[in-house]
Amino acid sequence: MADVLDRTKIYINGAWVESAGTGRIDVLNPATGEIIAQVAEGTTADVDAAVAAARAAFPAWAALSPAERAGYLRKISVGLAARIEELGILMSNDVGTPVELSKAFQIGLPTFNFGFYGDLAEGFTGERGEVGNSTIVAEPVGVVGCITPWNFPMHQVALKTAAALATGCTVVVKPSEIAPLGPWALAEVIHEAGLPAGVFNMVSGLGPVVGEAIVVHPGVDMVSFTGSTRAGKRITELAAQGVKRVSLELGGKSASVVLDDADFEAAVANTLGSGYLNSGQSCAALTRLVVPRARMDEVAALAKSVVESAYAPGDPMEATTLLGPIVTQSQQQRVRDLIDIGIKEGAALVTGGSDPVDRPGFYVNPTVFANVDPKSTIAQEEIFGPVMSIIGYDSVDEAIDIANGTDYGLAACVWTTDETKGMQVARKLRAGQVTINAGAFNPAAPFGGYKQSGLGREAGTQGLDEFVEIKAIQR
Ligand code: NAD
Repeated sequence: MADVLDRTKIYINGAWVESAGTGRIDVLNPATGEIIAQVAEGTTADVDAAVAAARAAFPAWAALSPAERAGYLRKISVGLAARIEELGILMSNDVGTPVELSKAFQIGLPTFNFGFYGDLAEGFTGERGEVGNSTIVAEPVGVVGCITPWNFPMHQVALKTAAALATGCTVVVKPSEIAPLGPWALAEVIHEAGLPAGVFNMVSGLGPVVGEAIVVHPGVDMVSFTGSTRAGKRITELAAQGVKRVSLELGGKSASVVLDDADFEAAVANTLGSGYLNSGQSCAALTRLVVPRARMDEVAALAKSVVESAYAPGDPMEATTLLGPIVTQSQQQRVRDLIDIGIKEGAALVTGGSDPVDRPGFYVNPTVFANVDPKSTIAQEEIFGPVMSIIGYDSVDEAIDIANGTDYGLAACVWTTDETKGMQVARKLRAGQVTINAGAFNPAAPFGGYKQSGLGREAGTQGLDEFVEIKAIQR
């Protein structure tokens, strides 16, 4: 156990403290399967203490000037930026993200968000103008429970926390038990930034225990959740008992629609880049490549060549690796099972498959299917692994119907050399984030889903509105 990091304290009221319980959760490196750390398996008593601290801190934090709150948020951003190399490696070991991508996304995005919301906090006065004899004000909703997943574990905590703190809310965070080390390091940075005690609190532990205790706690005014649609539904049911506000960022099954006039090489390479990012474990991953039926074979050949030349499963610590492992053994098994279901349901395996990868850890072969039925399991279910489904269409209207034809609506992409047509199709795609060609991800733009991909929006100025109550004062 010598090299196992001890991360068994929880963060309550400005201090690292022991959990009320004695349970421990092992944290594994998915590239090796070895235990790298232990965190506390928190209890409902821990949640009670964290919520009490957040409630007590709320009035004073909400009463600070916008400039003072902005100062703390910017300090956290600077603190993260100073540790980017070290934390990039830490999170690569925790999540399996290739190390350069880890620095760019796993640490780069939280660093951006604390800076971005620091700037927005400065201008957040809550004054929303006058309507007739009414003065409209926006006030912080109160104590926010933030429950987050493992795929971008620090980013998801940062996005919620930075926006909530900017409005004057205080938070109780429950990070994923599967990859908690990034959030733990973020709490260290927040502590070093000298945030007033109780404004940020973090309890590690299991969803049905710590997560549910946060959701039902009468001292929590709102729950901001990112994770699976399954857990999102459960949280919504529980929160309904207290008519508690919920914001949800859930799963996706996003489509990349390639029109006949597009640059096919760029479309295929970029769609695979999105679909395989973080081993396919990204909620907005483009996992359905929707192409003119007559060009199915050409697209399949292009995809095979890109995957076999660029996406060999590799050590996340190597700078050249683009595809690391899946986060856990059970997720690895689930992805393999879904690949087998794809074969059974009649899709054509172009490359990859469910055979074991000759490496330690939880790897899956990068896989492409062609001639996929848009109603089949692999075209409908979020797989959360490096599995691309190529689906044929006969008309642009049919392509749009296929893209919109799942329970999800998080992201989509359209490829065309005709800008006007690109905009027309983008407006018809029922998703919260739509990209035309290789349009870059914009962390300052709102992010969230239609249909079962979620409720509400994070990021951007809209991300602040999630955390306010609106009051009308008549005179
Ligand atoms: P998950 O739903 O299993 O867990 C997410 C978090 O919820 C964890 O902290 C977990 O402990 C907690 N949790 C689980 N059950 C709970 C319950 N009953 N009550 C309260 N909390 C509970 O999801 P995951 O496997 O960690 O993450 C993968 C999923 O997250 C994917 O479906 C992915 O698409 C989704 N995701 C969505 C976004 C987005 O922004 N839309 C971003 C990242 C991930």
